[in-house]
Amino acid sequence: MPDASTPQAGLPPGQPAPVRLLLVNPRFPESFWSFRWALGRILPGKRAVNPPLGLATLAALCPPHWSVEIVDENVETVPLHPAADLVGVCGMGVQFPRQRELLRYYRGQGYRVVAGGSYASLCPERYAAVADTVVAGEAENIWRAFCSDYELGRPQRLYQENGIVALERSPVPRFDLLKLGRYTTVGVQFSRGCPFRCDFCDIIVMFGRRPRTKGLEQIAAELDLLRSLGVTNVFFVDDNFIGNRAKARELLGFLAGYQQRHDHRFRFGTQVSLNLAEDRDLMRGLREAGFNWVFVGIESPEEDSLREIGKTQNLRHDMLEAVRIIYANGIDVLAGFIVGFDHDTVETFERQHRFIVASGIQVAMVGLLTALPRTPLYARLALEGRLIDTGGSHCDNAKPGTNLVPKRMSYPELIAAYKALYRRLSGDRRIAQRIRNKLRYLEHPCRSGYSRGMQLGIVARLIFHGLLRAPASRLPWFLHSLMTCPPRAWALLVGDWVAGLSIQDYVQRHIGDPSATERRRVHSTVESIRRRWAHCLQRGSLQVALEDDTAGCSVTLAVKRGIDRRFFVGVAGRLRHLLRRSAVNITLRIDAMGRGECAGLERLLGRLAADGDRIAVHVDERIRHLLPVDSSVFHLVLDAPGPGPG
Ligand code: SF4
Repeated sequence: MPDASTPQAGLPPGQPAPVRLLLVNPRFPESFWSFRWALGRILPGKRAVNPPLGLATLAALCPPHWSVEIVDENVETVPLHPAADLVGVCGMGVQFPRQRELLRYYRGQGYRVVAGGSYASLCPERYAAVADTVVAGEAENIWRAFCSDYELGRPQRLYQENGIVALERSPVPRFDLLKLGRYTTVGVQFSRGCPFRCDFCDIIVMFGRRPRTKGLEQIAAELDLLRSLGVTNVFFVDDNFIGNRAKARELLGFLAGYQQRHDHRFRFGTQVSLNLAEDRDLMRGLREAGFNWVFVGIESPEEDSLREIGKTQNLRHDMLEAVRIIYANGIDVLAGFIVGFDHDTVETFERQHRFIVASGIQVAMVGLLTALPRTPLYARLALEGRLIDTGGSHCDNAKPGTNLVPKRMSYPELIAAYKALYRRLSGDRRIAQRIRNKLRYLEHPCRSGYSRGMQLGIVARLIFHGLLRAPASRLPWFLHSLMTCPPRAWALLVGDWVAGLSIQDYVQRHIGDPSATERRRVHSTVESIRRRWAHCLQRGSLQVALEDDTAGCSVTLAVKRGIDRRFFVGVAGRLRHLLRRSAVNITLRIDAMGRGECAGLERLLGRLAADGDRIAVHVDERIRHLLPVDSSVFHLVLDAPGPGPG
């Protein structure tokens, strides 16, 4: 039940009690974007790349007398019994399963719950069974309406924004409510919308094709606040920063002056369309304003595929040449690629591979084409009967699976070729080759965003974790890239190795097919646990199950009261070893337990924390208070009694 300790006491008579609002950003499933290897080993103290900017904006839209707390489950655990009157849970498509789980849990605990975020904007109907209110669309107007209705005691089920929101009305986000020190970058938004019409894109469905922008004074206020909070790395999260070039130019001129006045405090990055390469003024403006990198949607080197999806802006010039022109202006390029278009064949993967290596793009995020609700692609595939019902889990387009039937290859061929492409791209040799290919064109790489001391620490940790603890075959490739790198680009070299090894680590743990050796290792570990703890199995205080299918292996340990206390110590080493040497997933199910046993379990979790993303922990609700599980480290299953699937 919600904590009843409202701060009524001491309020002047007649003054309403402040509404206590908890805003939650659910945990993302691990993806390439998590950069877990880098965050865990190279950048200690950092837990995620970007904080939830949308929630900080929502907090700023609340009436001033509301008391708002933001919890980002990617960097901290969610509170199970928050002192709140209202719980809002946001989410993008990839977060939907966890968002739904949290909404159900809090609602089951008696809280009033509100769903929002980009996925709720695309398909609010999916939340009807799990949320009391759904906020769909840009929040500036409808969130204010919800707050006022809530205070009047008549909140509605659905608030949908159907009009155009003027960004000039958007407040300075409550950055002060975020634990900014735990992130590598902080987002700022200047514009929404994009003039192009890529048929798979949900951005233009949500925000339209006429980019709208904030005023310069708004951006100045946001940067001033970030400066006061000690932030240096800023990501302009705009869908297409140059969607309105005139406005972008105006902002860049302003930012260049701002940076001069403030000792070039910020290093910026943003997302742009590839036609940036046509506009030398704009590239110079980006560079002068302190933009180190841009993320570009290249999608495919196949012209027919680009035509098919309406990405005509990428057809205006040679794409490899365009990337090199951007490099020549001193700006690094990160890029998104997609496979699975109707014109793609199994040969497409080889062309993608060649393009990515030749372009030198180290952060090359290749996703499987996915049809998002309300996009033209979705409508077309629905008409053609080519959508696969994946129960809402199709939105993680970096995972080997999608929700559509490919046209010129079979589904298994698509998945196998996708995995093979990533395995090839993430090898040490390809990391080194891409650095060399990039440095041939990248002029005046930007300086590192870290102090000299931090840079030395990063290099030392890269050498320790990335070279000394790696197979000896990596060293020649590292030295090869070092020898082709001028001293002025050493920071870039280090950054690219860190990014490349993070992607490699992810591919090894998530994209590979488990080998026969790996499967044997899992089976023999399970057998050894069963033998060693046979007496616990016999008296029913332990159950051990192993599932082994095409997706990989998963082990479930169900523990009940009466378990042998030595069990947790004995099993910790075996499980840790197994997690390090295989891509196994583990589920711990704790049904009943005394205080003494909980202490043993806590120690076990402490030893497994480094691989917590592959460990689901179910703790029976009656004993959750005995065993606090950090849901930002482990997947804490919150199976609250509540309505059925949304
Ligand atoms: S350029 Fe990017 S944001 Fe614009 S429509 Fe295409 S995919 Fe969407």
